Amino acid sequence: MEKKRRASEGSPSAKPERTTGRTNRRAAEESAASFAYRSGGKPKKQGAARAAAPAGKSRQEAPKAPVKKSRCPYSGKCGGCTMIDVPYDDQIREKQALVQELIGDYGPVEPFIRMKNPGRYRNKVTSICGIDSHKKPICGVYRERSHEIVPVRTCLIQDRRADGIVQSVFSLLPSFKMKVYDERTGYGSVKAIQVRCARATGQIMVTIVTASAVFPSRKNFVEALLQKEPEITTIVQNINDRDTTMVLGTREKVLYGKGYIEDVLLGKTFRLSSRSFYQVNSIQTEKLYNIAIDMAGLSGKERVLDAYCGIGTIGICASDKAKEVIGVELNEDAAADAEENAKLNHADNVTVYADDAGRFMTEMAEKKEPVDVLFMDPPRAGASFDFLQAILILAPKKIVYVSCNPETLADNLSYLTDGGYTMKKAVPVDMFPYTESMETAVLLVRTGA
Ligand code: SAH
Repeated sequence: MEKKRRASEGSPSAKPERTTGRTNRRAAEESAASFAYRSGGKPKKQGAARAAAPAGKSRQEAPKAPVKKSRCPYSGKCGGCTMIDVPYDDQIREKQALVQELIGDYGPVEPFIRMKNPGRYRNKVTSICGIDSHKKPICGVYRERSHEIVPVRTCLIQDRRADGIVQSVFSLLPSFKMKVYDERTGYGSVKAIQVRCARATGQIMVTIVTASAVFPSRKNFVEALLQKEPEITTIVQNINDRDTTMVLGTREKVLYGKGYIEDVLLGKTFRLSSRSFYQVNSIQTEKLYNIAIDMAGLSGKERVLDAYCGIGTIGICASDKAKEVIGVELNEDAAADAEENAKLNHADNVTVYADDAGRFMTEMAEKKEPVDVLFMDPPRAGASFDFLQAILILAPKKIVYVSCNPETLADNLSYLTDGGYTMKKAVPVDMFPYTESMETAVLLVRTGA
């Protein structure tokens, strides 16, 4: 195997976001259901009340059920937390029912691993900058399925410090003659502000996304920002000169500090740069990883493959219990972080490759490389077909599938169980309270030929 091959060309550059809601009919039905909670009653048919009330009789109408105010002022606008007003027990019940329905036929689904204090769990905040209809600069999140920005100042699931820092960066822009980018005219510079907080170390990274490399009086800007927010440990300028749906571009300049932050998970230290994927809920991530590593039941003799490894978290956390760990990750920044993380943790038995997981696995299969345990943690779309095919050739004894989308998980399980694997158990973890998203760890063992 040639070390550290380059990722395949034309692949998505960065920022795999994993928290958006489902898009099928079921998701639509569920979001209608959560609307019922939002409005404090049954979903109303548009126009039904008007049709039932004869003209001039409105005052004699039976009093309407009081409309409950949402906990979130942006509810129904930003489209993020469709379950913000659903009691936590009910959220878990709904998600449990969904995962049971989707994968329950393959094997036992254990009860959800809940979050003790759900709320303010997101360690990453991305705020899009733009111009509103009154030509005023704003920052916030895109309204669902649109390019209109909802000016969110604080969010009930985001780290409070990060929310405050976004506002500080935004408020400093005019004093430094930094204009926000207007996507209609292409005028202006600042496209987005991203803040990442490391829970265990307290380190904070600010990434300012600009349309061009120009950053007037950057030194003074950095000074002013640090004066306002001394907790910030690094500031990065990310240059995104393209009009794509990706928030971050590929070029970066470090304006202050190391250009990355470090966090600790299960006693291991992880460096993460702005473009690397990192689980957004650190508390639940530790639980998820513990479950996944437990499922693998490692004895110290195994050759482990950590596919879709991001910054190497699962493989490095498991490395003490395995003989060898091979990580593969498409995003080159994340793969570089993973390699650095292996060094940082003295995990000498970990090797990382920057490559497409499907291509890499196929090559391993062609070379008849042995793999005892496979950890796989693909993005929402699930594993690619070539990846799944290669699994059946490599035939690892155990697969621990960590999934952020139970629908693609169900599809992939169908293929793998047809191919000789049995699902021993699934453990769903509530990584994203108040949203419909979830993670599920699944143990598959090879039982067929
Ligand atoms: N296991 C990691 C990352 C999971 S997110 C963790 O727990 O943090 C999924 C990862 O898959 C992302 O880092 C993304 O960059 C990577 N990825 C997406 N498509 C890929 C592909 N075709 N081949 C390899 N990695 C891919």
